[in-house]
Amino acid sequence: MNGPEGDLIDIRYDWNKVEIPSSLKEFEKRWATRNNPLDYSGVWRFRELLPFAPEDQIVTIGEGQTRLQQNDGVAKYAGINPGNLFLQYEGMNPSGSFKDNGMTAASTHAKMVGAKVTACASTGNTSASLAIYGGTTGLFNVVVFVGSGKIAYGKLSQALDYGAATLQIEGDFDDALMQVRRVCDEAGIYLCNSVNPFRLEGQKSIMYRVLEGLNWEVPDWIVVPGGNLGNSSAFGKAFIELKELGLIDRMPRLAIINASGASTLSKLYNEHGLSWNDGEPDLKLVADYFQKMDEEDGRACTIASAIEINRPVNLLKSLRTLDACDGVVRDVSDELILDAKAQVGRFGFGCEPASGASVAGAKLLREQGIIAPSDRVACILTGHQLKDPNATVAYHSGNHQALDRTGPVEPHFGNAPISVANDFSAIMDVINNLPSL
Ligand SMILES: *Cc1c(COP(=O)(O)O)cnc(C)c1O
Repeated sequence: MNGPEGDLIDIRYDWNKVEIPSSLKEFEKRWATRNNPLDYSGVWRFRELLPFAPEDQIVTIGEGQTRLQQNDGVAKYAGINPGNLFLQYEGMNPSGSFKDNGMTAASTHAKMVGAKVTACASTGNTSASLAIYGGTTGLFNVVVFVGSGKIAYGKLSQALDYGAATLQIEGDFDDALMQVRRVCDEAGIYLCNSVNPFRLEGQKSIMYRVLEGLNWEVPDWIVVPGGNLGNSSAFGKAFIELKELGLIDRMPRLAIINASGASTLSKLYNEHGLSWNDGEPDLKLVADYFQKMDEEDGRACTIASAIEINRPVNLLKSLRTLDACDGVVRDVSDELILDAKAQVGRFGFGCEPASGASVAGAKLLREQGIIAPSDRVACILTGHQLKDPNATVAYHSGNHQALDRTGPVEPHFGNAPISVANDFSAIMDVINNLPSL
């Protein structure tokens, strides 16, 4: 499997040296041996599919206890037939986002190479995840770089609570990432951003669990929010490998959903014709695009802070996914993202704004006739509902100052709190007039 010249490192295995189960169903045997932490982990119970670490080096804190949930309320909203829409709820991870799937793998590799300090730049969830792995295992000291004023409070509070040294850089995520890469080079610190290819190995397991939730059948569509594009890159790699190993018989299609205010991939792919091109994507096109963006000081802007990224580091790897999975890319407005998030909250477990992009994207692709009502669609809910309570409360109470970052946002499913005097009859008046009673 080739990575394009000059791009990030890609992990490859000599599969002849690995004992691969003859079918994915074999992995179910590990449900019976859950007292072994490696069989309990939703990542490492698939360890033959990411065989880079000796078992005694694996760092796990019980990540990946997530399941695929069928959801007809959200299906109706997205225009998909009952029974066909599924939510992969990654908010149930120890730090509340899918990032733990990758961080268990990066932490394992850090341990293998004897790292004592690990670092990352983050829009929030990467830092929360790295911090929890440092805190619970005691293996590393953790330094996280965040853009100032950009991080959702739930996430910042985690990094602080788990004891990470937290640097608030005067700038945004793209600035913080550039700095942390230099710092790690200079100071010999182990870098845990998704430039780290081991993270992507762990994130492949999200797709294994989606397949597991469908009794090992391949869905028609995977829909995933796109920020730094680590997840989408990992998902494509997972399916390419499974197909090569003969463990699946067909590829799903895959949709990557940007926020309209952070739509580098969507623009390059849909408007500038960037493609994988057999492993030789047009690097000049990309360089010119970024140069123009810099000249215009183009900054990412969306309420979905986890995908507020203009320079996705896994851009080229994501093109491989799009090529392998007959993929599409869309960008959706903050309004659509927040409405979709509210529908997930109303019918599902809830999620943070960035995760809402997957449901918003599924709805859009359904309206465009690209997803059929009869397609089976798995939307990835990347982060927990409680990560960004400010955005949720702003939406429900119609706080336009907080909501209108890229244009006016009209909440269509708002559920504003009702102010009432501390007075029994006034309260009963309200109760008697509640439309829902
Ligand atoms: C990191 C993150 C994303 C973006 O994922 P990428 O792999 O960077 O594309 C989306 N949603 C949430 C909640 C995240 O934490």
